[in-house]
Amino acid sequence: MNLMELKIGRDGESGKLCVAVAGKNVLAGEADSVPKSVSREHVLVTVTDEGAVILQNLNIENDLYVNNYGVERKRVQHGDHIELGHDHYQLSWELLDKFFRLADIRPLEQVWKDYQAERLRLQIQERRFGVLRSATGLLTTAAMILGFMEGSGNGVSLRLILYIVMGVVSLLFLVIAWRSASRVPLRQQQLEEETRHRYSCSACGSLFNLQSYDLLRQMKKCPHCGALIIK
Ligand SMILES: [Zn+2]
Repeated sequence: MNLMELKIGRDGESGKLCVAVAGKNVLAGEADSVPKSVSREHVLVTVTDEGAVILQNLNIENDLYVNNYGVERKRVQHGDHIELGHDHYQLSWELLDKFFRLADIRPLEQVWKDYQAERLRLQIQERRFGVLRSATGLLTTAAMILGFMEGSGNGVSLRLILYIVMGVVSLLFLVIAWRSASRVPLRQQQLEEETRHRYSCSACGSLFNLQSYDLLRQMKKCPHCGALIIK
């Protein structure tokens, strides 16, 4: 399926470039800026739903050049040098871009994968802190039990040492768990902000919602600028 078709040629009356899009003729450029070697319906520019841009010569007598080679039908890349007619009238991408804005979302696949991997890592980290927190409780309980076990001949000093050791270890665990507890959500928030900023339309720079790359791929156009999505 094709997303868009532009029929490009020279308007006979004004000598301007004539772009027929969606049943409408749009004139572009200065009067008589297009040489007569460009015919009225010279080239068809098609954008497929994969975002490929294909040029098709509309008449065997027309000349069509891509990067200085004569062609009849050719898939072109953004920035390729396109010329019409034997006078080599240059068809600018600046003009084409006005008709079809393209947003290349392919680099966002990696952004999404990185985000998922980092999120998983943070989840695992959080679970580990959970384990650490329960260990703190366990140690405190152990210290209390040991405290109650009054060994008659052991004397006060051993009990006191046990108390102190358990207390210090518990406190240490508590401090580590406490610090980690705030670190994970902060990192998660930071990660989301970072990803949101990188997850954007290449045509207008607007940010996409943090939805999966597969969902993003289902869009045909950028909801912000209407640029056609290349995937
Ligand atoms: Zn956009």
